[in-house]
Formats: sequence, structure tokens, C-alpha cells
Amino acid sequence: MREVQVAKLESVHGTQQSPINITAREAFSVADKIAGTGYNQNSFKGHVVENAEHHYFELSERDNKKLPSVEFRSTRAVLKSIHFHAPSEHQLEGNEYDAEFHFVHDIVSKEVTGNAHVQEPSTKLVIGVFANAVKSAEEIASFCNSLKVLKETGKPCPKECEFPAKILNDIPSKFGSFFHYRGSLTSGEHLEIVSWIVLKEAIGVSSDLLEEIESLDQPTRELQLLNRRILLVSGT
Ligand SMILES: [Zn+2]
Repeated sequence: MREVQVAKLESVHGTQQSPINITAREAFSVADKIAGTGYNQNSFKGHVVENAEHHYFELSERDNKKLPSVEFRSTRAVLKSIHFHAPSEHQLEGNEYDAEFHFVHDIVSKEVTGNAHVQEPSTKLVIGVFANAVKSAEEIASFCNSLKVLKETGKPCPKECEFPAKILNDIPSKFGSFFHYRGSLTSGEHLEIVSWIVLKEAIGVSSDLLEEIESLDQPTRELQLLNRRILLVSGT
């Protein structure tokens, strides 16, 4: 277990920062639901790109029949990119996981006219999924080749690749239990524009894939204070 380092209160970035250590004892129970569409496809095509030392898989709008999307309360959000941190950025009860995937969705729902109070104040909905290494044979060759090209040349691989479909296929089965809070991006300007959904149950990813992810040395930001925010939990 990593020592919990908590950022100082007078963080220059604001008071609604991420990641946080999630403790169930502090969370308020609600009966919210997430519904996912389009996560069960056989392939997810896109490109591996780099931006400010971060490696992302960007889904191609042109080459996928349909981009996966989620509905949460009155918010609809479409999956645009996926990246990862090893070890995890969020912690659960002070424990970190081998990795954490961030499924970055753009919020596309229309404004709720006449009632600004039910309006989601964020522009992104990020689903954080903890991952542990397991022994399994996933189809990761296409994805890892692109990561390798990016690592070796410093340029995005021009060839299209596929994100391991099994990972996306497995996620909706874990939508029943999650934490929700409003926070920030964990890199760049740390903008406070994220509606976070962190799934309670971790997924298993092959140790080969985990090794590839670890070798990228993607930064894991230190824990931030919850401050006056409210953490919600849904499901058991
Ligand atoms: Zn991230």
C-alpha cells in the first residue's frame, strides 16, 4: 500500500480536485443508475495518441458503427477516449489497484430548460475502473503494437488499432455499484469539469497488457482532499 499523501488545502487548482481516496463510510447512499449502450461491440477502432506525456486511445467516430454511450440521471455522455494509470489514481479504503482505466465521455445531453438545478455542471463524465492483473489471454496485439510505435518514435502510430474489446464488453456488468462525485481532470490544468463515476468492482486485465501500460510511466496524481464535497454511493 502506498502512503497516503494528501495535497495541501491551498491547492492552486481549486478545492474540487481528483483523485480522492474513497471511503464507503463517508458516502451517502442513493438509488442512481447508469445505463450503457454500445459497449458490447466486437471491436473498437481508433488510434493511440500522445498529448502532454499522456497516452490515449481515441475512438474513431468514422470507423466505429456507433460510439458507446451512457445515461446517468438526465445526462447522456458519449465515450471519446480511454487512458490508464498504473498504479490506480483513486484509492478505495486507502488501497490502490494495479491500474485504473479512465473512460472519458463527453456530456452531450441538451440543457434542461427551466430548471438549472438539475443541470449537470460538468462537461465530461469519466468512468474510473480499477484493474488488477490476472492470467488470461486477451487479444491485445493491435493495441500494444500501436503503443510500441508511439513509445519508440514519439509519434502516434498512423495505423488504426483496436482497443481490447473484452474490457469494454465487461464494464456494463459492473454498473450496479459505483461511487459518484464531482471533481477534476488529474492532469494538465486540472480543470474542475468532471463528473466522476468510479466503479466499485475491479476488472481483471491480462498481465501482458498491464506490463505494457506500466512501461508507459503514465503519471499517477497524488490524492486530493474531498473538502466540502459529497460522495455518493449506489448499489451494494
Ligand atoms: Zn486519467
